Amino acid sequence: MPKKIVILGGGTAGWMAANLFAKRWTAEQASVTLIESPDIGIIGVGEGSTPTLKRFFEIVEVPDADWMPRCNATYKVNIRFAGWSPESGVESYSHPFVSQVDAFTQRPFVVNCKTRRLGLDVHTRPGDFFLNGLLAAQKKGPQAPESFPFVVDYGYHFDAGLLGEYLGELAVSRGVTHMQTKIVDVEQQPDGDIAALLSESGERVEGDIFVDCTGFASVLMQKTLGVEFDSFKANLFNDSAVVMPCTNSP
Ligand SMILES: Cc1cc2nc3c(=O)[nH]c(=O)nc-3n(C[C@H](O)[C@H](O)[C@H](O)COP(=O)(O)OP(=O)(O)OC[C@H]3O[C@@H](n4cnc5c(N)ncnc54)[C@H](O)[C@@H]3O)c2cc1C
Repeated sequence: MPKKIVILGGGTAGWMAANLFAKRWTAEQASVTLIESPDIGIIGVGEGSTPTLKRFFEIVEVPDADWMPRCNATYKVNIRFAGWSPESGVESYSHPFVSQVDAFTQRPFVVNCKTRRLGLDVHTRPGDFFLNGLLAAQKKGPQAPESFPFVVDYGYHFDAGLLGEYLGELAVSRGVTHMQTKIVDVEQQPDGDIAALLSESGERVEGDIFVDCTGFASVLMQKTLGVEFDSFKANLFNDSAVVMPCTNSP
């Protein structure tokens, strides 16, 4: 078991990792230190999640009522792509999150999709097969009464900046040490493993395990250990994005 865990990077990935470690081990069993550079900052975009985020909050035992109001969050049951394929008569395509209650209809949906690929015109709109598709169409939320005997999965929309702040506060309150400094060099052992991180302010941070959460910078994985970037370019229809803040549409 690692005694000293060092996470480099304080974006979503870094703070989620810190909270998972802090939940798994007490501070006496393993110390967790997160280092981030205030000069570099985080990428700071991304405002929607899939049900994976729900599972993360379940693991770290934080109820929706604690974090959602702090992060201006709302529930999300479905992803709707407007203007999907108007020329083929499909004005929008919906992707609902699949829940336990969909066990019966999930299979016919998959069978219909395979049948359609063989050239037969069968019904394959996922929004009609899954509970969350119906909730989305009726603009309803995913919270069922306690007597409802199935788990309804859902994701969230939230303010990514506020969520980052919340996760940082939560991790520190659970014993994670937060260092704000830029790492300018990495010390390696003779076998190539990472031994310590060296900061611009002269600190040397040792660890038993290092977690690279530096995003595109990939300070430990690519720059230090030479792990090659596995490009998915050949399979991408879009290879760029233009991002800007804008007012909410009605
Ligand atoms: C346009 C766009 C839309 C997106 N939409 C979504 C979405 O809706 N939902 C979703 O889940 N995801 C979305 N994403 C993806 C998501 O935003 C990113 O995957 C995620 O924020 C990346 O977080 P990160 O912690 O890996 O990296 P970053 O946020 O880039 O954090 C990197 C951290 O490393 C630190 N660091 C780097 N170098 C050093 C150094 N030398 N010394 C010390 N610290 C260092 C920085 O200070 C920072 O704290 C979107 C991305 C884009 C570009």
